[in-house]
Amino acid sequence: MKQSGPLLEVRDLSVVFDTRRGPLTAVDRISFDLSPGEILGVVGESGAGKSLTGTAITGLLERPGRIGGGEIRFEGNRIDNLPPEQMRRLRGRRIGAIFQDPLTSLNPLFTVGRQLVETIQTHLDLGREQARQRALELLAEVGIPAPEKRIDHYPHQFSGGMRQRVVIALALCANPKLVIADEPTTALDVSIQAQILAVLKKLCREHGAAVILVTHDMGVIAETADRVAVMYSGRIAEIGPAAQVVKAPRHPYTEGLMGSIPVIGTGADRLTQIEGSMPRLTDIPAGCAFHPRCPCARADCAAVRPEPRPVGDGKVACVLYDGGGI
Ligand code: SF4
Repeated sequence: MKQSGPLLEVRDLSVVFDTRRGPLTAVDRISFDLSPGEILGVVGESGAGKSLTGTAITGLLERPGRIGGGEIRFEGNRIDNLPPEQMRRLRGRRIGAIFQDPLTSLNPLFTVGRQLVETIQTHLDLGREQARQRALELLAEVGIPAPEKRIDHYPHQFSGGMRQRVVIALALCANPKLVIADEPTTALDVSIQAQILAVLKKLCREHGAAVILVTHDMGVIAETADRVAVMYSGRIAEIGPAAQVVKAPRHPYTEGLMGSIPVIGTGADRLTQIEGSMPRLTDIPAGCAFHPRCPCARADCAAVRPEPRPVGDGKVACVLYDGGGI
């Protein structure tokens, strides 16, 4: 199907959890687009709603979680209301997923070759030999040494980093247009993390896949992403080109995440941690959810919810930018 606009459009998406005390909003009316081939980093502390955003897009939200409002369009078509079977097919073929723990995606009882071949044959019209050949090519592409030998090994015979490479191969089996990677390197040694990110980035570029990279790590974003969305308490605080958001963050929360809060009026920086913690879902403050922790908070911040407004090449949700920038 021909499609000229964004690959993915997320509009006013909310994710809610139904509880005995009523619905709790974990993702609160977020909107963003993703272009074909683009890598969007979604960053924030634990509980910001970043993983839930990825899960909602892949249609893998589990009860009591559900989409509470908004739309998700993929290649121009709504996917937030698809029947489960249609969503499952889309997920295998057009949308790939990579999770933090490779063992979530791999069956310990089958060789990686069997899992790759079955996945390839589920989604592509290939015979067994052709599928095995493609599996070997994919294992080579993700940097598994001696793939013709390793293809018949079981997941436990691979190191954590090698297993994550196998999962990247699995996610790319059907040449998806979108890959959702949720903390794909968090469980790995620092030395391995960079290699895995490099493989993910290179392969998605070569296969023409866009990526949503969910992480709590700004370093990972700086290394990998074209654009970044910073989430706080279920909302997007700031979104823009990675170089801009990482090097010259505008939202006070992004500045805090970068560990550097500008001292207003002096132009100097001092290294600071953000004090306090992300509010619980049951206790999200009114107005700007960041106001109890924000070093720049004003009187109106507790009352007015700031909406993301264009600033530079991105958008910032902060009253300091309501006039178009400071
Ligand atoms: Fe801080 Fe107010 Fe901006 Fe929120 S709206 S980030 S509290 S200055």
